[in-house]
Order: sequence, then C-alpha cells, then structure tokens
Amino acid sequence: QYLLAIETSCDETAVAIVKNERELAANVVASQIESHKRFGGVVPEIASRHHIEQITITLEEALTEANLTLDDIDAIAVTEGPGLVGALLIGVNAAKAVAYAKQKPLVGVHHIAGHIYANRLEKEFEFPLLSLVVSGGHTELILMKEHGSFEVIGETRDDAAGEAYDKVARTLKLPYPGGPQIDQLAQKGSEVIDFPRAWLEKGSYDFSFSGLKSAVINKLHNASQKGVEYKPEDVAASFQASVVEVLSTKTYKAAMDYGVKQVIVAGGVAANRGLRAMLEEKFAGSEIDLMIPPLHLCTDNAAMIAVAGAVAYQQGHRAGWDLNANPGLDLEQYGARKNESFH
Ligand code: ATP
Ligand code: FE
Ligand code: MG
Repeated sequence: QYLLAIETSCDETAVAIVKNERELAANVVASQIESHKRFGGVVPEIASRHHIEQITITLEEALTEANLTLDDIDAIAVTEGPGLVGALLIGVNAAKAVAYAKQKPLVGVHHIAGHIYANRLEKEFEFPLLSLVVSGGHTELILMKEHGSFEVIGETRDDAAGEAYDKVARTLKLPYPGGPQIDQLAQKGSEVIDFPRAWLEKGSYDFSFSGLKSAVINKLHNASQKGVEYKPEDVAASFQASVVEVLSTKTYKAAMDYGVKQVIVAGGVAANRGLRAMLEEKFAGSEIDLMIPPLHLCTDNAAMIAVAGAVAYQQGHRAGWDLNANPGLDLEQYGARKNESFH
C-alpha cells in the first residue's frame, strides 16, 4: 500500500511517498530558504508563490524517485494546518486536485503530528510515549497513549524555542535561520553569562522563552553601553545552556512522572547538538528509550506527513472535498476526530 503526502505549511515544498505505513519510497524537499534569507525570516506571500511554482515539479520528482505513477497510489495525505494559510492552501488544493482526478481517498494531517511521526521511520513507537516538540512555532510536551492520540501536558506560554533561537540570532546579526548558526557558535564558546532559567511554577511542564530572549538583548545592550564586549560564541553558548537545561530537565521529569516507555524528540530544534547531548546524558541511566530523529527528518518534510497520514488513514480518517487549510488546527482535537466525512 502506497500513500503520497504533500507538505507546504511554511517555506518547504515537499512531497513524499511511503509504502506500508513506514517504509520511505520517496522524499523530495524543495527549500526556499535562499529566497527568504535577505528578509531575515519567512515572507508569507513569497512562500505561497514559490509553492505554486514548485508543487507540480516536486510531485513529479517524488513519483519518479519511487518509480510509481499516480495510479499506484492508494491515498493522498496533506498538511491541513497549522501553518501559513496561503502556503497551506497550495498543498491542500494540489492534494484535492490529485485525489479528485484519480478518485483516491484524501486525509488531512496535523503538521505537529507529522513532526512526531517522523520518528516512526526509524523505529516503531512504544506507548505510553512522551514527545518533546521543539520547532519554529511550537514547544510542547505531548503524551501519546496510542497511535493518533495526543495529550498536550505542557507548552510554551510565549515564544517557541526555535523562535527564541531565531530572534537571538538576529540580535547577534547572524543570517536566517538562526538556530543552526547559534548551535555552531555555541560549540566554540563557553557559558560565561548566567542567563535565567524559566522553571515557572513548581510541577509545571510549561515553558517560557521570551524572558530569556529579553535578558540576552538587555545584557548585550548594557554591555555595549559600558564598553564591555562579549564574544558572540560565549553569548550563544550561554543562551543555549539555558534553553537546553530547561527543555531537557522538564522532559525528563515528565517522562518519569508519566512512566513512559519512550521519549521522542521532534521539530527543527531537535537538530540542536546541545539539546541532543543533554537529553542523551539525562536518559542514559534510565530504562526509557530516547529517540532523536536524524537531522534531515527534524526540519519540515513530507515523509513525516506521510507516516502520520498513514496512521490516520488506517484509523479511518477521511477528508471531504470541502477540506480547507486550517492555520489554527488544534492537535488534541485533530487526534480526537474519527470518520468525520467520507467521499
Ligand atoms: P512549526 O513546525 O512549529 O510550524 P517550522 O516548521 O517553521 O515551525 P521547523 O521547520 O520544524 O519549524 O524548524 C525550524 C526551526 O528550527 C527554526 O526556528 C530554526 O532556527 C530551528 N533550528 C534548526 N536547526 C537548529 C539547531 N541546530 N539548533 C537550534 N535550532 C535549530
Ligand atoms: Fe515544522
Ligand atoms: Mg521550515
């Protein structure tokens, strides 16, 4: 059984094909980073235009890579939300066009469910499972008791981890996207500045990164007024130490409190070397299986949407021809809906 998936929620036009739920047959990603770089972030209108130009090419490339035609495909999955509405619409309409033309079932997928399911390409899930989702727009701890069910036990109250990375990078005048740049600098620096750790109330699994971001900006501002200069690599290392300590400590505590069998990390910030190292250290002595995806599966791709879509398809989720882009799609509600509409 083959499922084809389309992802266009942000600045990557991506199409992938999986066989039997979790064997990758094709994975094509057309990145637009170069076009957005000079603006220091993703420009929604430019993203939509690129998706329009790239979607057909990407689709054909994926079919070629898998050596298949659309007639061989059993179902079409697409990222329905969250994301940029104009960007999502390109993928949703492409998926609807293909599904309608070939009369194939259509499945809408939640982007974050996709980030989590990227890990299933590497290893089978074991429940209960805890996922730390750290991306450009999300920072969440998600408990899964079975396939397709998501309980958000903690989330950021302000900025996402990736967003904090990108904003601090901008302050340091590093090119977009800043996360990987700071990560690289941090390897060369040391923690000379003691930035705050946002633990929040006792027992809370929530996160907050805007205070840390302001602390970095203030520290640099005050220093330059006093004629003091911090090395960018030391600022990066100090900032990263704060982010990584809070993320990994809360993840470890939640994993223990909920007695999970597996912890999986997902989203673009899962590529962070400091975070990977600290999590590995924390879970080394425990019985819990820690899964961190390979770098190419951390950032946006359609393979992850295909794997999450295959599960939704197996569970009977079907979208109607009225499927629409849903920029604010809620993860728990997405998991709770079954057999909504058939065609
Ligand atoms: P979302 O998935 O929440 O909708 P998104 O799709 O834009 O947002 P991703 O593509 O998953 O997010 O991840 C991009 C983010 O990951 C960016 O903020 C980027 O700076 C960050 N990132 C990528 N690599 C690293 C790294 N090595 N260290 C820290 N952050 C990183
Ligand atoms: Fe993403
Ligand atoms: Mg992206």
